[in-house]
Amino acid sequence: MAALERGFTMTRLLVLTAAIALALPASVDAARKPNILIIVADDMGYADLGVQGCKDVPTPNIDALANAGTRCTNGYVSGPYCSPTRAGLMTGRYQTRFGHEFNPGAKGSEDVGLPLAQTTLADRLKAAGYATGLVGKWHLGDDAKFHPQKRGFDDFFGFLGGAHSYFPAKGPDVLRGTGSANEKEYLTDALGREAVAFIDRHKANPFFLYLAFNAVHTPMHATPDRLKKFDGIKDATRRTYAAMLDAMDQAVGKVMEKLRVENLESDTLIFFISDNGGPTMPGTTINGSINTPLRGSKRTTLEGGIRVPFIVTYKGKLPAGKTYDRPVIQLDIHTTALAYAGVEIKPEWKLDGVNLGPFLSGESSRWQPHDALYWRFGEQMAIRRGDWKLVRYDPNVEGGKGRATEAKLYNLADDIGETTDLAAKMPDKVKELQAEWNKWNKDNVAPLWGGGKK
Ligand code: CA
Repeated sequence: MAALERGFTMTRLLVLTAAIALALPASVDAARKPNILIIVADDMGYADLGVQGCKDVPTPNIDALANAGTRCTNGYVSGPYCSPTRAGLMTGRYQTRFGHEFNPGAKGSEDVGLPLAQTTLADRLKAAGYATGLVGKWHLGDDAKFHPQKRGFDDFFGFLGGAHSYFPAKGPDVLRGTGSANEKEYLTDALGREAVAFIDRHKANPFFLYLAFNAVHTPMHATPDRLKKFDGIKDATRRTYAAMLDAMDQAVGKVMEKLRVENLESDTLIFFISDNGGPTMPGTTINGSINTPLRGSKRTTLEGGIRVPFIVTYKGKLPAGKTYDRPVIQLDIHTTALAYAGVEIKPEWKLDGVNLGPFLSGESSRWQPHDALYWRFGEQMAIRRGDWKLVRYDPNVEGGKGRATEAKLYNLADDIGETTDLAAKMPDKVKELQAEWNKWNKDNVAPLWGGGKK
């Protein structure tokens, strides 16, 4: 009987081992784990890259990154604000699962930050032997206990809050680790330089670099040479925005050049997203970004707040020059990175993200990574299932009043601009989507801070 049990166990073990081997991405190289590079832009408009249809600001380097990989045309972030989406990216979970629903505020109190019980992508990759670095914006807590170097990052160069001066003379210094960096350069140039230096220091072994630009977030600071380059743009805010975007594109170009020179392109899995949509609120244009053809802006759960440029590039391993049109979300970046790093994903981590590799490569037998995507931001909410979207959004960004509208129903297949509300026509569809959102919402917790209008 014991022998029989043992035999049975052995068989199960073999089957299990085979299943795990099959589940691993084909690209996992026993010789070297891939480097992971996540590039995040801040408050960039949906339409503000050449590959996204931008005409007045050339972005040749980010376009080249997109053309070398797959551009996800239905790419989302899990919130319409900076800090919540970064919390989602770092944990691979909807941030409403653990109360990180809102921004920490201009001056976060000592208890406000990414909850310490949450494990970050840097924690997980560091445990897997990766050198880990954050270059740029953190925005997951100002207090010492929330510092990036306490959350899995070996190296940190950047700033802890939600925004920062680009000119050293106009604001506080940036940090290297926990001390002043004594920075002299325009910040976006400095971030590019530091990203290249990080790659240089760690090129011999797998690294994880989180390059979180504050471009093109306010303050609107640009260098004179780049402003001059765009003097054909008449609107002053848009011209400054163009110059700031140009700086970010050049910094991305330097990072890509470094990977090329070091022959690391086919060893590096790269993601590029914006952390939320452009802040295009009428009358209060904040940075000159453009979200067309989407409606709405940062701060709303309309497409303009949560749908972003989303690029995945892995030379020789994932399709190049392709687009992928099934809905994906930044939570997937976390899971995808772990999968390619060969990290065993444990059910108790409760990741909401999916490994996109088999979907982008066409190896998956499933049609799409997610049955539905969900959002909660105070009284705003949204669910996207197939082409259907049910949404309650902040009407203030369009001159309205109140914290959130009634539920509106849109079909994004022929109404990407969310212009025609079908809720009255299709009450059953509204009910069905609302019920599904309610079910998802049961696993969320109350916000740990905030909860006001924004
Ligand atoms: Ca942002």
